[in-house]
Amino acid sequence: MKITNPATGEVLAEREMDTAESVRARYQELRKGANTWREWPLRERVGCIEKFSQLLREGEKELTQTLTAEVGKPIKQSLGELQGARGRIEYFVEQAERWLCTRQVNNDGQTEEMLVFEPLGVVANISAWNYPYLVGVNVIVPALIAGNAILYKPSEYATLTGLYIQQLLHDAGVPKDVFVAVVGDGRVGQYLTDLPLDGYFFTGSVTTGRKIATAVAAKLVPVGLELGGKDPLYVTDDVSDVTGAADSCVDGCFYNNGQSCCAVERVYVHEKVYKPFLEAFVAKVKTLKVGDPTAETTEQGPVTRPQQIQFLQEHVEDAVKKGAQIVLGGKPHATLQNAFEPTVLVSVDHSMQVMREETFGPVVGIQRVRDDDEAVELMNDTDYGLTAAVYCSNQERAQNILRRLDVGTAYVNCCDRVSPHLPWSGQRDSGLGATLSYLGILAFVHPKGYHLRA
Ligand code: NAD
Repeated sequence: MKITNPATGEVLAEREMDTAESVRARYQELRKGANTWREWPLRERVGCIEKFSQLLREGEKELTQTLTAEVGKPIKQSLGELQGARGRIEYFVEQAERWLCTRQVNNDGQTEEMLVFEPLGVVANISAWNYPYLVGVNVIVPALIAGNAILYKPSEYATLTGLYIQQLLHDAGVPKDVFVAVVGDGRVGQYLTDLPLDGYFFTGSVTTGRKIATAVAAKLVPVGLELGGKDPLYVTDDVSDVTGAADSCVDGCFYNNGQSCCAVERVYVHEKVYKPFLEAFVAKVKTLKVGDPTAETTEQGPVTRPQQIQFLQEHVEDAVKKGAQIVLGGKPHATLQNAFEPTVLVSVDHSMQVMREETFGPVVGIQRVRDDDEAVELMNDTDYGLTAAVYCSNQERAQNILRRLDVGTAYVNCCDRVSPHLPWSGQRDSGLGATLSYLGILAFVHPKGYHLRA
């Protein structure tokens, strides 16, 4: 398998793809490893994860360079991702004992009732390329801390990063038969779904998520799906700072080239503030520095998968055919390989793909609305339900709007934000289950009740 730099087309490395046989052999090793790992004291497992975090910090330079080389992420954002991942690790390290400890929940004098949490066993983590450290950590860290062994399949677009994650976990003391990375594309993912694993945790597209959920349904094991989004942002007429809202919204739309599950992909603006908002938004987009992702000042580089350029073009063409106007961009970048110009569309409506289907690139549609009711109706008019944001100076009004939206995460006066303290989950097609927060620790254990009499 060739690993290619999307910014230059250079082949960075070649790796042997795993086969059904090699994956099965690794699985058998993991079965043995899992039996030992679950007996390790929690503090020792946590100690390995602390060491892993330290190694991430020490290797920061090389790790960020590799990430940028294989996915095209601007180097500053690669560093931000690595630091963000360490922040999440810190949360899990601090909280593990509190949530996983055995506790007495009742004692009536005759029977002592105890709650214990046991690991699931050997679990699969099938992962995406857009934030390999962040989405990796969401699963790998709490699952390992809880005593599971992991068969990890990084995305074929982030293979080198996936192999680094494996190496650093091993260097940090996680046994080689407790964490194993396999290399390859969707076919290797399918080998994982063929195995009798004890849980499947997936981050990626809705299409693949459905395939995995269907393939493993009869196993009756836990399945966690973190899928796509079509996240809306609504600017009300009592927004306190139109320019501030526009700047924040631009960041939400274009960070990581719009290749975030929680990227803002559609914006609804109250007609009373539409004009100043659009002016401020466009002015901000014009300042985005598009270029070589290895340069410190670059804010937008190439998209990760070359085939995405045609997909973005189709979304724009479909919108224009149905009456949209291009205010900025609308086509592949003239000189930068595999890059698409930051694109702003207006006169959009919900007959257009760009307002209802995940675009996953630097393209946004901005629609004028009359009032909150129309905004809510449009924000809910999609199959997705990951996040939604409202910009409004009146908290009560803003929260009343958020209550009516079918999403896993809701924001007031911010967007595109993830906190380890809160669950990360999607409604509708955006997913099943939750990572992060205490729910994202308990996702990797079976609760077991003991009724103890003398
Ligand atoms: P993808 O679905 O193409 O691939 C994800 C992983 O699944 C890859 O490792 C791939 O090799 C594997 N795979 C493909 N076919 C498979 C099959 N039949 N069986 C098993 N595994 C298979 O997704 P992607 O392009 O890597 O990621 C982008 C998508 O991920 C976007 O839709 C984005 O919104 C979503 N995402 C969601 C979150 C979240 O937290 N909700 C986070 C990041 C990305």
